[in-house]
Amino acid sequence: MKKIIVAIDGYSACGKSTTAKAVARQLAYSYVDSGAMYRATTLFFLQNQINIAEVKQVDNALKAIHIEFVFDEKEQVSHTHLNGLNVEQEIRKMYVSDKVSEVSALPQVRNAMRYNQQKLGSLRGIVMDGRDIGTVVFPDAELKIFMIASMEVRVQRRLLELQQKNEQATAAQIQENLLHRDHLDTHRSENPLRKASDAFELDTSHISFDEQVDFILKLAHQKIYATV
Ligand code: C5P
Repeated sequence: MKKIIVAIDGYSACGKSTTAKAVARQLAYSYVDSGAMYRATTLFFLQNQINIAEVKQVDNALKAIHIEFVFDEKEQVSHTHLNGLNVEQEIRKMYVSDKVSEVSALPQVRNAMRYNQQKLGSLRGIVMDGRDIGTVVFPDAELKIFMIASMEVRVQRRLLELQQKNEQATAAQIQENLLHRDHLDTHRSENPLRKASDAFELDTSHISFDEQVDFILKLAHQKIYATV
């Protein structure tokens, strides 16, 4: 059976990664959270006080960054590793979220991430979520999904997520961060977030998690059997 690429793009906190993980599990595909790669890069920049206005500093930093997804047998999930250290928890913190869209807007950063993402998907059989997966990283993906949700739902989802991790943030702070990132992600000159013309739109505001996963799986099966 031929393997396909499922590209899932959309705004922050629309449920992309949890949905993508479930779809990948059902298809027995690998899952790549491209946002985690931008977050890990941002963490490295913050830890090493990289001045993002200095092209040379950014280039050298990118050469020193090695990001991997390491499968945790016990938890049955992949964790993001930065230069050999598990940074899965750290990269989700608000101080990283506050800087990630600025770092992601740098052309050198986008080129380096795209190169690695394309390598990860070279054998197909992958579900990748992000902002530019269907438009730039895999414009030839067999299935493209663009996920959206109302701001109210997105804020509640992120609030719950942070509370579960014992992270302090108010709904107002989260909304401010989401609006700020939406603006930067959609207005940057390099690969801005936009819906690919051949993407299926999925509004997750009022549907259940299982319905989201089913919607994508049905389309994936159609594509998989159509490509045999
Ligand atoms: O998906 P997540 O919210 O973790 O992504 C964090 C940030 O990484 C986004 O707000 C965006 O600035 C950046 N990103 C990107 N392109 C991607 C994935 C994420 O620019 N493909």
